Amino acid sequence: MNDPLILSGKEPSQKIRGEIRKEIEELTSSGLRRPGLAVILVGDDPASQIYVNNKIKACKKVGIESFFYKLSSNITTEELLETVAELNSREEVDGILVQLPLPEHIDQEEVILSIHPDKDVDGFHPQNMGKLVARMENGFIPCTPLGIDLLLKHYRIDPKGKDVVIVGAGFIVGRPLSLLMLWRDATVTVCHIHTRDLKKHTLGADILISATGVPHLIKEDMIKEGAVVIDVGISKVDGKIVGDVDFENVKHKASAITPVPGGVGPMTVTGLLLNTLKAYKKRIKAHSTSTMKP
Ligand code: NAD
Repeated sequence: MNDPLILSGKEPSQKIRGEIRKEIEELTSSGLRRPGLAVILVGDDPASQIYVNNKIKACKKVGIESFFYKLSSNITTEELLETVAELNSREEVDGILVQLPLPEHIDQEEVILSIHPDKDVDGFHPQNMGKLVARMENGFIPCTPLGIDLLLKHYRIDPKGKDVVIVGAGFIVGRPLSLLMLWRDATVTVCHIHTRDLKKHTLGADILISATGVPHLIKEDMIKEGAVVIDVGISKVDGKIVGDVDFENVKHKASAITPVPGGVGPMTVTGLLLNTLKAYKKRIKAHSTSTMKP
């Protein structure tokens, strides 16, 4: 087998972020305010802090204003809900992101439900998840599935009619991704911790996407010759970031494969920027129509 195509997320991210920056420049040069994203981080989890910093930095580069709220890990659900409520009503805030996971004592479900669906740029509110099920274009698709979709498009890998096997059925990645791949007309199999004989399923994949957080779960003998392999997992082993896929051994069999880091990670942030721009444009449009009313 020849060397696989390395599906770097950096190149498509640079391209898409350039387009976002240009669009924001055009909109603001006509006198409109900048798009705004509120980012809430609860507690001191170092990984979450890094993710949040990356997102804020990426916003700045494309001209999105960010409003950062660092809240103590002792905060109550009610106090967090009050912060979200205030941001729901703030005019200059188009998107609200609450970095997950939240500390155990906070009711995550309540928090997700409290974000206004039009500002839910993470796409976790049931209204947006429902729009994903219903294939409605005007909702928000969760950022990682959206990023993977954009990555596949960039490298001209069309899931239509393909056997797509997703390993991991989590709320943030696997589950919404399975709906998006169905939307793209793939034949979708979703595996998880209770799947019997995982290998039996993964061997049938034209496109294998793993999102479990189990380091090197996907081995060479689990993939079909020529498969496309997308690795969403992020784990730390001996101080090094590794994915779900045993990259060095799997790459010889794959036709295309994402690196970790530098594959899906940057695409997730790009998905967030796109969703924030979408929220902004939707709100600007709604505002201009409402002010035009007599
Ligand atoms: P999660 O805990 O919500 O879900 C994990 C899923 O994996 C579950 O469905 C579980 O059943 C399944 N699973 C666990 N062990 C398994 C096994 N041995 N065999 C088969 N299935 C197994 O996690 P999540 O939030 O969906 O995140 C998954 C991974 O993706 C994590 O490593 C996370 O850090 C990473 N992630 C990366 C990005 C990115 O931008 N690259 C974004 C979000 C999450």
